[in-house]
Amino acid sequence: MKYIRKIYNHIKENIILPQSITLDGPTGPVVSVNKKDILMLGSYNYLGLTNNKALIDESVKATGNFGVGTGGVRILTGTMSIHRELEKELADFTGYEDSMSIASGYGANVGVIPGFINLMGMAKSIFFKKSVIFSDEYNHASIVDGCKLAAAKIEIYKHNDVKDLERLVSKYKRRRKLIVTDGVFSMDGDIAPLDKILDIAKAYDASTMVDDAHAIGVIGDHGAGTASYFGRTGEVTINMGTFSKGLGVSGGFISGSSDLINYLRVACRSYMFSDALAPGIVGAVRGSLKYILSHPEIIEDLSKKSEYFRSKLNAAGFNTFQSKTQIVPVLIGDQKMSVKFAERLFEDGLFAPAIRWPAVPKDLSRIRFAVSASHSYEQLDLGIQIIIKIGKEFKIIE
Ligand code: PMP
Repeated sequence: MKYIRKIYNHIKENIILPQSITLDGPTGPVVSVNKKDILMLGSYNYLGLTNNKALIDESVKATGNFGVGTGGVRILTGTMSIHRELEKELADFTGYEDSMSIASGYGANVGVIPGFINLMGMAKSIFFKKSVIFSDEYNHASIVDGCKLAAAKIEIYKHNDVKDLERLVSKYKRRRKLIVTDGVFSMDGDIAPLDKILDIAKAYDASTMVDDAHAIGVIGDHGAGTASYFGRTGEVTINMGTFSKGLGVSGGFISGSSDLINYLRVACRSYMFSDALAPGIVGAVRGSLKYILSHPEIIEDLSKKSEYFRSKLNAAGFNTFQSKTQIVPVLIGDQKMSVKFAERLFEDGLFAPAIRWPAVPKDLSRIRFAVSASHSYEQLDLGIQIIIKIGKEFKIIE
């Protein structure tokens, strides 16, 4: 414990721990903290569905009909008819033959990557035993951890750099290969060049995996995700997503061919050894898909509001990286300064988190703003006004 205390104290003194902020009630465009209204501009609640009445009703109905828990893992006693109904709806929504739900997005990545690569220890030939995973340098931590659990060589390619990817992939002619990327990058808000990645995969006989945590409900036809955005629906081998962001609930899923999903149900350890999603969550996610399909205008609304917010910050002189989506990071640089910046925002009534190492490189610390379709333009203007004021105070802009 001595070492743990020492390291914790070191982090506290040198990096400054962010204050843990507790909400008094539900999240939304405005949240209550210590009974004070704060403009929320950092949440994953991209479509504003976390507190939507239709979703709550579906959740309550499913809880009433199926109870609060499932009493087991999916492959033993925990599968209920609503799980299969949700999975069929998800498969249709994303454009694949089948899908499987998993307790969290983190769990999905940590289970699926080794499940797909390790082939349950049954592969005999060297082709299968020495697989290679090609992973974008900015991929989410859950992909990084999933790769660590896979018995494979890991090659990290430069962020969104298809030339670098091809250079690496072409080195491994006789190996089984998996290329894995975020669809929309969680800390940068840019979009992976999936069309080109799929072309490389085809040319070199590689499988592909896309983490659409920040793309589901947000880009592509009716929010179907990154493959759909590029007109390549159904072409990704392992299409992963979460319920916890655009869909406004919690949990993760994989879409793919029936063969892939049948296999992963017995090879993905986070699916096999972790409890099935609670009925209330399943009901809410089904409600969310239904809501998005019947209100396609919220996706367009989110896109317009994101562009509005980003263009105003760019015009004020902020560096918003390569953001193209609802995730709009603002570069601060220094770690301590980014935490102080977030604290000043909060003092002025705006909640957005400072993002630092290990989520991003140390010198690229930032404030990660996120726009929601539920923000009004007046709320966005107020947020922009506060950000510009504090940006000047910190001499980030002139
Ligand atoms: N993938 C990405 C790209 C993410 O940003 C996140 C969550 N921040 C996850 C996976 C994990 O999802 P969950 O929160 O549902 O576990």
